Amino acid sequence: MQVLVVEDDNAIGEPLATGLRREGFEVTLVQTAAAALSAPPADLVLLDLGLPDARGFEVCRQLRTRSSVPIIIVTARDDETDRVVGLELGADDYVVKPFGFRELVARIRAVSRRSASPPPVPGSQVIGGLEIDRRSHRVLLAGEELPLTPKEFDLLALLALDPGAMVTRREILAEVWDPHWYGTSKTVDVHIASLRKKLGNPKWIETSRGVGFRLAVPQ
Ligand code: CA
Repeated sequence: MQVLVVEDDNAIGEPLATGLRREGFEVTLVQTAAAALSAPPADLVLLDLGLPDARGFEVCRQLRTRSSVPIIIVTARDDETDRVVGLELGADDYVVKPFGFRELVARIRAVSRRSASPPPVPGSQVIGGLEIDRRSHRVLLAGEELPLTPKEFDLLALLALDPGAMVTRREILAEVWDPHWYGTSKTVDVHIASLRKKLGNPKWIETSRGVGFRLAVPQ
């Protein structure tokens, strides 16, 4: 992950860059607004507001006109106006100097997690002998169409998003039923049982007791 650190004070910028590199980030350190705007694209920008050639806000505004890169503003003043202006200009977070390095790293990770886009959902997918077509809502097993109910299809399609990964009952209820579902999670077990039956081999869906389910290709 490439982090652009915009900080004119070397007493802050240098140790910050060194610390972030130690955390596994690739860091480009620049001292001016002009250098920030001509730097190669980064995955995240740490932006000091007090720069020698322009206000950090201007850098923030210009970066936003051309990219949605996550921006964390770093400032010496805990000023509510600055905070509001920064967020209105599209900054994602705001850190006041002096800040703890651990806290900053945690914020960097949180901001980049929030901005990460989920992987695209495949329209059609083959897992072992199973073929799932999300566009037509059809599932074929060894070339034969399975007569799944809509809920069974949604359940199988959810598990197939990341084969081998555990999906919790809570996630299943939220995704396949309704985020505000107050019913019992027995519903999930009933549908899993019927799905297993239609798949002809219970090993397609592994249970982790008390946690959830994962899709696995039977050996
Ligand atoms: Ca400064």
